[in-house]
Amino acid sequence: MREKQDKKMQNLITSDVVISGGGMVGAALAVALSRLGLSITVLERQAPAPFEAQSAIDLRVSSLNLRSERWLTELGAWQNLQQMRLCPYQYLQAGEGKAQLRFAASEIGERHLGHIVENNLVQLALWQQFAEPITVLTDCEITALRQDEQGVDLTLSDDRKLHCQLLIGADGAQSKVRQLARIGTAGWQYQQACLVAYVDTPYPQQDITWQQFYPSGPRAFLPLPGAQASLVWYDEAAKVKQLAALSPRALEQAFIDAFPPELGAIKLKGSAWFPLARMQAQQYVKGRVVLAGDAAHTINPLAGQGVNLGFADAMLLVEQLAANLSAGKSLTDADSLQQYQRQRRMQNTLMMGAMDVIYQTFSRESAPLSLLRQQGLRLAAKAGMAKQLLTKYAVGNSVF
Ligand SMILES: Cc1cc2nc3c(=O)[nH]c(=O)nc-3n(C[C@H](O)[C@H](O)[C@H](O)COP(=O)(O)OP(=O)(O)OC[C@H]3O[C@@H](n4cnc5c(N)ncnc54)[C@H](O)[C@@H]3O)c2cc1C
Repeated sequence: MREKQDKKMQNLITSDVVISGGGMVGAALAVALSRLGLSITVLERQAPAPFEAQSAIDLRVSSLNLRSERWLTELGAWQNLQQMRLCPYQYLQAGEGKAQLRFAASEIGERHLGHIVENNLVQLALWQQFAEPITVLTDCEITALRQDEQGVDLTLSDDRKLHCQLLIGADGAQSKVRQLARIGTAGWQYQQACLVAYVDTPYPQQDITWQQFYPSGPRAFLPLPGAQASLVWYDEAAKVKQLAALSPRALEQAFIDAFPPELGAIKLKGSAWFPLARMQAQQYVKGRVVLAGDAAHTINPLAGQGVNLGFADAMLLVEQLAANLSAGKSLTDADSLQQYQRQRRMQNTLMMGAMDVIYQTFSRESAPLSLLRQQGLRLAAKAGMAKQLLTKYAVGNSVF
């Protein structure tokens, strides 16, 4: 009996916080929370592969705004990323037909508006910052969750047991934590899907990201280090699937034909398609369980906001938990967690709504509406102060 109990105890891992999901958001939370002196256990299906300069670019790239960059710099991860690969951009352009709206970093006194980064390298750069008291468990996941006033008890797929004060679900859109905590979601799948391609371009490294709107959906160019780029083609889901089924040569030609001529004769190196969904968890907080990043919300990627919102969740959560600790409150103080939920749900809902307005406005094929949109873009281009505020908002700064 005693032996059995000892064995049980040996199998029990105790920490202040368990984070399920060591992707970009979960890993950033682990680094930031460990600096508050909290012991952290990170559960992740697979550790990121080491960086090799010759390795192919990850098809999942993100545009990171200045706010995210500043936070990753505070965490020491940005410096790691700079040793690997990333591409800054100074200009951001959106347009329809000949009407173009261009934002420049110089208009807001910055050297760049953001960076295009590879998701797996951001994750790796954060993992490189992992140190005591962070424990990482890979190749396992949570299979059972029970919480009470004493804490959260978890069972893992390899039968190990974990006990913690706070469980954070940062395990992406299909979050297991969200399911086990029985937190529902609301949302829908968009009619459009997107095809992402990684290409060589005929021009040297570019410092602009642009998006051209068409009634069938936008087509976007994201610069990558060297003469490379990521192209994103939004269209009806059926059309995207058709494109994805083409031979590489035929798909390369389809991109050249469909994108503005400025793209030039690209060479296709890889592609993948993604369905687009808007989803929001009905609660971000349930007792001692908190959701952050894509586990809490997914958004139409057309303005590249997803992980920037996830980092904003993480920043506020760290702030709330730090305040609890310094005020001598319980780590999981209910008022404080509710404040996290209120603030982040509101901000994320606003951004989702803004994406839907853009999606709806630009997806309608009607000559008068197209004229109105183009006039709107021309007016915005001349809007001076308002445009400056919009640029500040786009890079993640507070505009007030
Ligand atoms: C086409 C496309 C383009 C995008 N472009 C941009 C952009 O330009 N800018 C931007 O900000 N965002 C963009 N996004 C969104 C961005 O990719 C996501 O918001 C971001 O990846 C979310 O990060 P996350 O860490 O919350 O979740 P994820 O990246 O999904 O990471 C979740 C992690 O949890 C792990 N995991 C999953 N299940 C379990 C489990 N059961 N147990 C343990 N671990 C688990 C996974 O292995 C993964 O490492 C884009 C998305 C798409 C689809």
